[in-house]
Amino acid sequence: MDLISIVVPCYNEEETMPLFYEAVMAEFAKMKGVEPEIIFVDDGSKDKTLETARNLHKKDKRVRYISFSRNFGKEAGMLAGLKAAKGDYIAVMDADLQDPPSLLPEMYEAVTKGGYDCAATRRTTRKGEPPIRSFFARMFYRIINKISDADIVDGARDFRLMSRKMTDAVLSIGEYNRFSKGIFGWVGFKTKWLEYVNVERVAGETKWSFWKLFKYSLEGIVAFSTTPLYISSAMGFFVCFAAFIMACFYAIKALVFGDPTAGFPTMVCIMLFLGGIQLIGIGVVGIYLSKTYLETKKRPIYIIQETEEDKKGN
Ligand code: UDP
Ligand code: MG
Repeated sequence: MDLISIVVPCYNEEETMPLFYEAVMAEFAKMKGVEPEIIFVDDGSKDKTLETARNLHKKDKRVRYISFSRNFGKEAGMLAGLKAAKGDYIAVMDADLQDPPSLLPEMYEAVTKGGYDCAATRRTTRKGEPPIRSFFARMFYRIINKISDADIVDGARDFRLMSRKMTDAVLSIGEYNRFSKGIFGWVGFKTKWLEYVNVERVAGETKWSFWKLFKYSLEGIVAFSTTPLYISSAMGFFVCFAAFIMACFYAIKALVFGDPTAGFPTMVCIMLFLGGIQLIGIGVVGIYLSKTYLETKKRPIYIIQETEEDKKGN
């Protein structure tokens, strides 16, 4: 019997959790030789997510849960779940059933018989998403793949099933600024990609605002690439070079033609341009510095308030 742990980060998912539970258990009932374990990670939800998790655990001991003291973000939720998972194989899924449980048998087959360490999913369409969001998402994947070593697949979901070995590798990365899409790619291992058409969430609303996604994508770039630092240095060189050419041009013009150049407008433009470039450079360095600062503090990535273990005996 293989134990399969399913890690489910939940933020305000009281409506979707029971549906998720039913759908996943129904899928497992069809599979042979496997035992499921569902770990709901309540990421400081403001609704009855924790209560729902407690009730599901009461009903079915194969359901476990972890509850955070506040909202720490999906990345923290995934990490806590992966750490708690006892399975031989570990899956990460969203609570909203956008990750179809019907793919689980195929994923399990790939990691047990197919010779893969991981079966991951990507959606082929972005149906039901605002077009502007899709546009920026595409741009993000184009940029990050150009400037970083980690192979980050466009449309990749966090929905994946990993072997114990790969999970341990992911857990061995102890960084504070976690960008899982990058970490999964970075650790390597043989990954099988399954594709499916985007499904809309069964209930509730998306927890990601445009701004939150934008910040998350910047985090991804900073965590997996130092190219922006090189770009700002290159920009500095380029501007110096341009200034040198311009200086020569005006010197020759003044010497040969004796033509006094009107200084004020050119001066203002150049000053503003250089000021801007300097601020951009400082900003880029600042972003990296701030990440380094947070990293050196070694704060815990999440704080657990309650798990199903606390409820033993009652
Ligand atoms: N989530 C979380 N913490 C957060 C935001 C989201 O644990 O701060 C969970 C959420 O409950 C869901 C998953 O992450 O299970 C994906 O979120 P959502 O479906 O809102 O994102 P989308 O599918 O729209 O990208
Ligand atoms: Mg979703």
